[in-house]
Amino acid sequence: MDIFKLISPVVRCSYCGKGTYNDKYLCENCQSDLEKLKRNVSIEGTLVKGHIIYEYNGIVKDLIIRYKYNQQRYLGKYFAKLMHDFINDIPVDFDVIIPVPSHWKRKFERGFNQTEIIAKELGDLSGITYDNKILKRIDNSKALKRLNRTERENELENSFVAYGNESYKTALLLDDIYTTGTTINYCGKVLYEIGFDQVVFLSLSGNY
Ligand SMILES: [Zn+2]
Repeated sequence: MDIFKLISPVVRCSYCGKGTYNDKYLCENCQSDLEKLKRNVSIEGTLVKGHIIYEYNGIVKDLIIRYKYNQQRYLGKYFAKLMHDFINDIPVDFDVIIPVPSHWKRKFERGFNQTEIIAKELGDLSGITYDNKILKRIDNSKALKRLNRTERENELENSFVAYGNESYKTALLLDDIYTTGTTINYCGKVLYEIGFDQVVFLSLSGNY
């Protein structure tokens, strides 16, 4: 056993609970599982280009579910750290980080908007301004999941509204799970309409 292990306190892996000596959230096994799901997929959307970091599967999916539904908010900080490692490689000087807004009722039910917390933490880590006032979701109370595809698209198209701020020109649009890109495109559309020059999205995960 090396001296580092003797003097370091044992911490618990946030995923499997196993004792670990590193100062990270995950033990070495879980970190390696996470690495295996890394995809770095680039998406050339019709309006908004962007990146998906991990496949939405295995440990990534489990961690996101724990974060969203079991109120394990400290994971937001960890996700922000994973995203921070990635944004250094995007050759854009971002003025602002904007979280994809969730519906206010669902935010109310859960007590927090999980994407907002990740975006805020990423703002702290990167020094890029975080702003959750620019993009808002205004849809009605129907849960989108219950609608069929056509209804869902119609519902989504009118769901987002953006409020101008002339000091911002480039935006990093942040989401946790990328699905079809429809949401991202509608968000991008209203942001371009209020004068943004460039909107790039970054999603922690997605099956694409
Ligand atoms: Zn572990």
